[in-house]
Amino acid sequence: MMPGGGHDAVVIGAGAGGGAAAWQLCALGLKVLLLEAGPAFDPATDYPLTAPGWERHGFPAPPGSRAMLSYGDLGRLDPATEDLASWSRGGFPWRLPPGAPRPPSDVGYAHVQGVGGSTLHFVGEAHRLHPDAFCRHSLTGQGVDWPIGYNDLEPFYALAEEVTGVAGDGAPDGRPRSAPYPLPPHALGPGARALVAAGARIGQHWQVNPRAALSRPHDDRPACNYCGQCSRGCPLGDKGSTDVTYLRRAAATGRLTLVPGAIVTRLRTGPNGTIVRAEVVAGGRAQTVETPLLFLCAGAVQTPRLLLLSASADLPRGVANSSGQVGRNFMETLMWRSSGLVPGLTGSHRGLPADAICWAPDAGDPGGFRLNHTTLEAGLNGPIAYANRLLAGHGEALKAALRARFGSALAVGAIGEVVPDARSAVTLVPERRDALGLPVARISSVLTDTALARLRRMAAACRAVLAEAGAELAEEAGSRDAFTATHVFGTARMGRDPATSVADPLGCSHDHANLWIADASLFPGSGGGESPSLTIMALALRAARAAAGEGPPVSPY
Ligand SMILES: Cc1cc2nc3c(=O)[nH]c(=O)nc-3n(C[C@H](O)[C@H](O)[C@H](O)COP(=O)(O)OP(=O)(O)OC[C@H]3O[C@@H](n4cnc5c(N)ncnc54)[C@H](O)[C@@H]3O)c2cc1C
Ligand code: SF4
Repeated sequence: MMPGGGHDAVVIGAGAGGGAAAWQLCALGLKVLLLEAGPAFDPATDYPLTAPGWERHGFPAPPGSRAMLSYGDLGRLDPATEDLASWSRGGFPWRLPPGAPRPPSDVGYAHVQGVGGSTLHFVGEAHRLHPDAFCRHSLTGQGVDWPIGYNDLEPFYALAEEVTGVAGDGAPDGRPRSAPYPLPPHALGPGARALVAAGARIGQHWQVNPRAALSRPHDDRPACNYCGQCSRGCPLGDKGSTDVTYLRRAAATGRLTLVPGAIVTRLRTGPNGTIVRAEVVAGGRAQTVETPLLFLCAGAVQTPRLLLLSASADLPRGVANSSGQVGRNFMETLMWRSSGLVPGLTGSHRGLPADAICWAPDAGDPGGFRLNHTTLEAGLNGPIAYANRLLAGHGEALKAALRARFGSALAVGAIGEVVPDARSAVTLVPERRDALGLPVARISSVLTDTALARLRRMAAACRAVLAEAGAELAEEAGSRDAFTATHVFGTARMGRDPATSVADPLGCSHDHANLWIADASLFPGSGGGESPSLTIMALALRAARAAAGEGPPVSPY
């Protein structure tokens, strides 16, 4: 049963953007109703990392915690790019013949529906976009420029770092800071140290990766214990997911009403073009809530879906869609990963995932991609992974190899810039419907020649540092073979021109004065592979402040 009225604002979605927006609105004195489609998780009981068979279990997926989806055109496996085919010593599940349609990855669109959204199983890399990412078109002729610059977000980056609890060392990375990181850096683990040393010999500068994981107690949360399982859910609550950071603080104001399991199905407009109410299904009952101020933060797939589902006789193209841009400009994750075994390396199964980063590994593609240490994210931290993916043989020989080589895996990941393409979009599929009878979202996403050329450079950079570290390659995987959706963007983008964008430079819909969008849909460009959550949070904090009538803090940059 939905609580009665009395709220000043409704926020849809409790992920990176929705959590940040809800807290900022509550902190500024507004009463907020937060509607979240998925369930609430309890970190202490829902992430059983110490249970037998832990290695076989990913992030839990209780009923209602995954959206139903459909896939359209994901491209084909071009025979000319066979050098970028995924492979593994243990056999590769996605391996398809050249020319076959590119499938979704084995985990598909793995984003979580729940209180905390996809921050529940994110790794917690906490990146600011590089200042050049906001003007990539001006600099390279590709993509579009953002309507804002780094200086507009800088104070909000600092605020997001404080609330989530980011640990970093502040070494130069081209991203000016008005304040030091709130927490000191984590020590690098054995794998990262091997990459720092090997990188230095081949001109790759590896450094501490800023991480939303506590290096000491902060904000009533304990320090990280380096269990290495961030993407399976953090049982300690030290990882900076939205549920234990923004939403805990928002609840403490006494002005937050959070309703898990509340699926918003449609937005309704009034005579003056504002959004007057949202239709919601909660606890099996269809209800409506008034929306004096509305923040839509359902992520880069469900936000455009809801706007398109809200089409009416007055708005046949959907809500906020006079430009026809809702759902277009979808950007997936351009990723590569190479893994191997390094003779003499020990202990690489321990530590903090993604502890080291190399920001600009390729002088020929500056800002186009970055590398990180990804042994733990790749799941190479348990004996089953070693036996299935890295080692050959059976029986006693396999056991002996496992004893000898456990802890010597080393993996390097790369994430690169994606430029919007007309073929890549989120649309509705009327013939495929979810449990509520509503058309599901269909993702189409095609890698351009530019993206594939960048992927080749990414693979080369990963292989180079691993070769220098002495690794025998055992496994490689990348976007060429499978659609990857870790970071997705662009389907309700911000811009100055209402004809080519959905929201204005603050995130307010060009078409509806009380509708704000504050999630990954807003991104006009993907950046150069930076992880997006800190930017999503900074955009949401800035939008919430503007919507509440507060001016932005003044940036020193
Ligand atoms: C495995 C993995 C690892 C990642 N690692 C990192 C990382 O290290 N660093 C980083 O910055 N990013 C990382 N990301 C990406 C990051 O998690 C996402 O970019 C981010 O969470 C997106 O934020 P959002 O607000 O756009 O959407 P989400 O966080 O996805 O939140 C959207 C919320 O809206 C809810 N919702 C959707 N539809 C409705 C509806 N109709 N009614 C009500 N509620 C609805 C959803 O249930 C969801 O909870 C990772 C992602 C994955 C999958
Ligand atoms: S490594 Fe640290 S942040 Fe990650 S799950 Fe373990 S305790 Fe949490």
